[in-house]
Formats: sequence, structure tokens, C-alpha cells
Amino acid sequence: LLGDANVQAIVVTLRDVTARRELEAQLERRAFHDELTGLANRTLFADRVTHALERQARNPAFQVAVMFIDVDDFKAVNDGLGHASGDLLLQQVALRLRASLRPSDSVARFGGDEFAILLEDVSVEEAQETADRILEVLKLPVAIGEARFGVAVSIGLAFADPESTVEELLRDADIAMYGAKANGKGCAIVFDAKLRESAARRLSMKIELGGALDSKQFRLVYQPIHDLSDRSIRGFEALLRWDHPVRGTVPPLDFIPVAEETGDIVAIGRWVLETACRQAVIWNEQHLSPLTMSVNVSAVQFHHPRFIDDLRAVLERSGLDGNLLTLELTESVLLEQERVTELLGTIRSLGVGIAIDDFGTGYSSLSYLQQFPVTAVKIDRSFVSEVSGATNNGLVRSVIAIAESLNLTTVAEGIETTYQLEALEGLKCGLAQGFYLSRPVNAHEIDAILAANSSLAAAPTR
Ligand code: C2E
Ligand code: MG
Ligand code: MG
Repeated sequence: LLGDANVQAIVVTLRDVTARRELEAQLERRAFHDELTGLANRTLFADRVTHALERQARNPAFQVAVMFIDVDDFKAVNDGLGHASGDLLLQQVALRLRASLRPSDSVARFGGDEFAILLEDVSVEEAQETADRILEVLKLPVAIGEARFGVAVSIGLAFADPESTVEELLRDADIAMYGAKANGKGCAIVFDAKLRESAARRLSMKIELGGALDSKQFRLVYQPIHDLSDRSIRGFEALLRWDHPVRGTVPPLDFIPVAEETGDIVAIGRWVLETACRQAVIWNEQHLSPLTMSVNVSAVQFHHPRFIDDLRAVLERSGLDGNLLTLELTESVLLEQERVTELLGTIRSLGVGIAIDDFGTGYSSLSYLQQFPVTAVKIDRSFVSEVSGATNNGLVRSVIAIAESLNLTTVAEGIETTYQLEALEGLKCGLAQGFYLSRPVNAHEIDAILAANSSLAAAPTR
């Protein structure tokens, strides 16, 4: 304003925009990053995949792969230890994922317990090695408050071909991840076209499960549980089968996760409990020595507010002595400390036994065995299958020793060979089941087995 007679000076106006710039940067971070872990979010990730696919289109030797990672049984941690602990766990997972990758790879969190990784310029072998490394690294125990446990994840891996779009690639990795869950979790699976079919199946399964109970499509098979001291039959495990009108018999690991998602497992599980208890009463009426019944209970069913009432009602209606019933729970059920202790106490007060199923595969912690009123430990098949001439069976031996010191019954699952049977007898394992002893069969076949073994049925019980 030099020309302004009143001013005759140069006027400079400054405005501090730091706050605005910071806010903009923050907003941008939020738009492209996940707040909890600081990782990229879905939007930024998709953008990076787009660029990677463009590079692959120019240079087909530049192989692009996407990995979907989902924490197994995260809900159990989150509900059990609280959301703050769940958040801590996710942050730990994020750190470990970041640390197990090359600087050029991108990691993102898609929300919940879902992570994604973009691998650029990798070979199929390298990508698979990365997946294996992630599985291993996450297994190392993390400390969350008082609890320490390894994190199991399911990984889906998909490779881009020159025609892939971002959406297709992400969807394929997601489908492969579901494949890994269906494969028993804790593993990595590479996408192929067969998996796409199974994803479509999953969806129709969801719809059909709703009507399956009313249409009487479920059936129980029973696998004898033998006493290893004299090989007599001590009881049975009830295992669910779905006789689908078109698909044929669907194995439980295919549909139970779906039924847990839809909530149908609550009604199905109630039916299983009732049917198994009634069957146990029939067999016990026919036989001298008591025969137990073991029933698998899913976490969703166990945590349902009506579970204890259902259990009481079933025992009453069927007339089964609670001492002859055992509920099989997996380790993930036990994470929720306070409420679970109370629930298990109530169950024990009905005489009903509690077995930890698939012991050694979940968030295993030996402290659970001490902390909760558990009555039996079922040693997972994967440990039993390792029992061979070549190894010293140290793991199975220690589990049996610990269980014994806590006065718990040990049940070996999945005995398939004479060698395994004899080795477990030698290790003083209490009970055993497996294809070598008997496959799970329909109730009338058990009638026949019991009739043929009537001398064994009268054998003394320990
Ligand atoms: P689980 O409770 O650990 O049951 C043992 C599984 O191992 C059964 O598979 C059984 O058929 C199989 N098995 C037994 N002996 C052998 C053997 O020697 N070798 C091999 N390879 N396998 C053997 P199945 O019936 O397919 O059941 C799988 C899982 O599905 C069960 O594992 C259990 O977790 C779940 N499940 C089954 N029925 C029910 C149910 O009524 N409710 C719930 N919530 N889960 C169920
Ligand atoms: Mg079981
Ligand atoms: Mg098991």
C-alpha cells in the first residue's frame, strides 16, 4: 500500500495454517490407514494392488500375490479377555506381520481381525514361504495381561494372472482364507477354482441349514471310547452328521462353522444333546457296566444364555445320570475367565464331566487345566499320529503326566495303528478312541457291538 497516502507501507498478512495442515494430514491418514494398528486400510491397499497389477500387465514376470489373514477364534479372545485385550492382540499381530515381510510388501488391516498383505514380484515358492513364516511367527506367545498364548491364523493366498482385477484378486484370497478355516484353521491355502465352488456352497449351506433340523436331516453316529487297561468299551462320543438331500452326508467340520455363524448351532446342539442323552439311557438300561456319553459343545452354544437351563432340562427329560455325561469343549471356550469358571462349576454340580477336546491345538495353556474344574483331557489326533517308532513321544508323555498329576482322565484321539495303541497303553493313557478301535457308526451298529462284547460290557470299571 505504498501508494496509499494513509499507509505508505508494505503490509504483510500471515496466517498460521499448521493446525489445518495437521488436521488434513490426520484426515488423510485416517482415510488411508487403520487407526488401531497404523497399517494401510482397505482403500489404500486396493490402490496399491491396482498399481501392482498395472506393473504385472506391463511385465508378466512381475508376479503379484495377495494374502488374506484372519485370526482364528478371535471372538473368544475379544469376548473373553475384553476389547482392550483384543485390541492389544491385533496390534501385536500387526507388528509381527510387518516384521516378517520385505520393505516392499504392503500390509493392511481390513477391520476386525482381518489383515491383508500385498507381495510384489514374488515367486509362488517365496509367497508360500512367507505364509509359513507368518504362521510360525504368530505362534510365538504374546503376553496380554495375565494371559500368554500363541496366535493362530488362517491364511488365503491368491496369485494374480494378467487378466485379474483388484476385486477378483481380493475375492480369491478371501475365498482361500475361508478354505483354510474349513481345513481346520491355523494353515495357509492357495486359491484354486475348486475353492470358488466351495464358497458358493457355503452360501447355499447357510440358507439350507435353517430348515435342516425341522426336516430331520441330522443324525448322530457314535464312536466307542475304550479303556486302555483292558480295552473294554467305557462309553461313546456322539458325532453329528448332516444327511443333505442332494449333497449326501456333510461332515461336521464343513457345516458347524457355518451353523455357528448363523446361530443355528444353538438349536442343533440342543437336539444333539437330547438325542445323545436318550441313547445313553437306552444303552445303560441294556448293560451292566455304566456307559458314558460324550457330547461336543461349540463355543457359541456354550455361551448362549440358555445353555445351562437346556442342559438341566435334557438331563431331567432323558433321565440320564449326570455322571454319565461329559461335555467336550475346545480350549478357545475357556478364555473368558470369570463367567466360564462359574458356568463350569454349575455343570460339575450336575455331575456332568468336562473334557478339553483337541488338547494342544488351540490357545493351549496348561494353567487352564488347573484353573478350571476340568475332568478329562483329549489328546489331539495330531499328537497321537506323531507317535511312531521314530520319535520318543515326549509330548504325549508329558501331557499324560501332567493330566495325571491333576487327577484328570486322559483320552487319546485318533488311534489308527496297533503301534499307537500299544504305545499309549505303555504310556498309561487312560482311554482311547480311533479308527483302529472303531469308526463312528450308527446307533444300531453299536447295539451289535455291545451285544457281541457282552462279556466286555460286564468287565470291571476302574
Ligand atoms: P472331535 O470332537 O475331535 O471328534 C473326533 C473326530 O475325529 C471325528 O471327526 C472322528 O470321526 C474323527 N476320528 C476319530 N477317530 C479317528 C481316527 O482314528 N483317525 C482319523 N483320521 N479321524 C478320527 P468328525 O465326526 O468328522 O467330527 C469332526 C469335529 O466336528 C469333531 O472333532 C467336533 O469338533 C465337531 N463335531 C462333531 N459333532 C459335533 C456336534 O454334535 N456338535 C459340535 N459342536 N461339534 C461337533
Ligand atoms: Mg470331540
Ligand atoms: Mg478332538
